[in-house]
Amino acid sequence: MARYTGAVCRLCRRENQKLFLKGDRCYSDKCAQARRGTVPGQHGKNQMRKKTSEYGLQLRAKQKAKRYYGVLESQFAKYFVMAERKTGITGENLLRILESRLDNVVYRAGFAMSRKEARQLVLHRHFKVNGNIVDIPSYLVKEGDKITVKSTDSPKIKESAEKNASRPTPAWMSKDGEKMAVAISKLPEREDIDFDIEEHLIVELYSK
Ligand code: SF4
Repeated sequence: MARYTGAVCRLCRRENQKLFLKGDRCYSDKCAQARRGTVPGQHGKNQMRKKTSEYGLQLRAKQKAKRYYGVLESQFAKYFVMAERKTGITGENLLRILESRLDNVVYRAGFAMSRKEARQLVLHRHFKVNGNIVDIPSYLVKEGDKITVKSTDSPKIKESAEKNASRPTPAWMSKDGEKMAVAISKLPEREDIDFDIEEHLIVELYSK
């Protein structure tokens, strides 16, 4: 499956926002976005001063969401179609779908240091949903689902869980740290999602 394999810190710098793509490093003072804070490339500083067009703002919003959740273009477009078909506000539906991905849930629960790592762990069959192993990172969880770690002895997952112990668990899931399990109490509302994005810009871009 195609994946972005370039330097990920460039992506944060391009969006001028921390996207938390690198795990530990993102929370340290080594974070390139915090240290440099400019758009990558020779003319990065000048680009930051330039006025962005309406289309430019819409495009950046879409790119930012794609990169934050680690989703490629075609999959993102499918999520948009799904969001449009649901009742309610399309932008919020889109964010809710992205948040419901199993790799995101694993990351949000603190069992991985980044969404990329969560994706790898899911692919390597480390997680169960309602007692069954699920190795599809894009699997969409539902209200009432229970996500558990297959083996609580996994050193990688244990290490992440310990490091992330102080990170707050999102309001839409309840976590049992000892059993390394999370239950989806409800799917998230917009106010439950701490992602700084103007999702209406994505809707405007796709509605052209
Ligand atoms: Fe982004 Fe993390 Fe790199 Fe900072 S360290 S620029 S948050 S990927």
